[in-house]
Amino acid sequence: EERNPAQPEFHQAAREVLDTLAPVLAARPEYAQARIVERLVEPERQIIFRVPWQDDRGAVHINRGFRVEFNSALGPYKGGLRFHRSVNLGVVKFLGFEQVFKNALTGLGIGGGKGGSDFDPHGRSDAEVMRFCQSFMTELHRHIGEQTDVPAGDIGVGTREIGYLFGQYRRITNRWEAGVLTGKGQGWGGSAVRTEATGYGSVLFAAEMLSLRGEDLEGQAAVVSGSGNVAVHTIEKLLRSGAHPLTCSDSAGYVVDEKGIDLELLRQIKEVERGRVSEYAERRGASARYVPGGRVWDVPADLAFPSATQNELTEQDAVTLVRNGVKAVAEGANMPTTPEAVHLLQEAGVAFGPGKAANAGGVAVSALEMRQNAARESWSADRVEDELAAIMRDIHRTCHETAERYGAPGDYVTGANIAGFERVADAMLAQGLV
Ligand code: NDP
Repeated sequence: EERNPAQPEFHQAAREVLDTLAPVLAARPEYAQARIVERLVEPERQIIFRVPWQDDRGAVHINRGFRVEFNSALGPYKGGLRFHRSVNLGVVKFLGFEQVFKNALTGLGIGGGKGGSDFDPHGRSDAEVMRFCQSFMTELHRHIGEQTDVPAGDIGVGTREIGYLFGQYRRITNRWEAGVLTGKGQGWGGSAVRTEATGYGSVLFAAEMLSLRGEDLEGQAAVVSGSGNVAVHTIEKLLRSGAHPLTCSDSAGYVVDEKGIDLELLRQIKEVERGRVSEYAERRGASARYVPGGRVWDVPADLAFPSATQNELTEQDAVTLVRNGVKAVAEGANMPTTPEAVHLLQEAGVAFGPGKAANAGGVAVSALEMRQNAARESWSADRVEDELAAIMRDIHRTCHETAERYGAPGDYVTGANIAGFERVADAMLAQGLV
């Protein structure tokens, strides 16, 4: 904390991992000898830059851009870009640190990184978003490349933003280098199912956890937070699996719909009109209710999918979930559950799937997008979905088996952290002191 003051999210993420590594460090003294942990918490490179741009009225704005290249022992740095007013170096470092372990856990050849800006896209026109993305890429292009660092989307960065970023990269470099960004549109190098992958993956992970308890998704009521990319596709996959997603939310409040969320209406409001969830309740009729400023976790359900942002599910929320009989929680977002809440849920016997494992489907399909780009191929949606399902099963099995091997059966947090750590640490050991 002395070395990195004012980075509470990064400290939280690092502490959460370090707290679970004791058994593996005891079993493998060579890790401590090579000071793997000390090297892992120090990013390989951190880039901070000015992003000047002009709004539609001609006023000048200055934002700050970040790219933290955390670890490349397993492959090029890989991780999303976040555009949100809360972005600062500590937030980017927490996301980059988590990404290293998550990417290792997928079993694919990708290192970890993350980036973004404190730019707030809410209420900005397409032209403003485009000018911002062009200015952002004018600096970022020096640092990325298909063999070096491959950004993707995250909060506030979807297909539209990736399009503007890719256009500017192509223009500056005069190269058609599809593999430099993932999350591209399907007509120009994107992969089928990339947009859906994170949400689908977290539902697949929940299904794996339930199956160990002799249950499936059919008929289960679910609470979902958020209404962005991850939340919408979590809801879609739940509906396709016969479950009942009852809620969605944004930073202003949540909606509960007794009949289950109407996916088409939600998509129309969020993806076409870029509106708010309050409008969903206004248009849906009697079954839906909007609760301004409320906590989505107050709605009783069997399953919970925090899919908005960090620290959105607190200890008090966990108490409510347990009281309402929740069976499983799968983190679609990154670090949405506070450490105290994780502890409480695990103690109560709730199956808890941490983001590093449960939301790894997005980056896994990004790696499949890179593979398609390298081979100049475009796979069918069925093929990508099958591969995604196999990867999620594999991640679940790896976490489960690793937790058992290190004396923490059923503890997916420990399993995910140790399994990801071992893979990165072994690569770092083999590659010497760099
Ligand atoms: P989007 O920008 O598409 O959606 C974000 C959603 O979360 C919106 O509903 C937004 O509401 C809400 N939200 C964001 N910040 C806050 C906040 N501070 N308080 C309350 N609500 C908030 O992002 P994604 O769906 O892509 O990302 C959601 C989460 O999933 C993030 O934690 C991200 O890191 C994680 N993730 C995403 C992946 C992906 O493939 N996209 C991959 C793996 C993880 P509002 O509009 O009001 O801000």
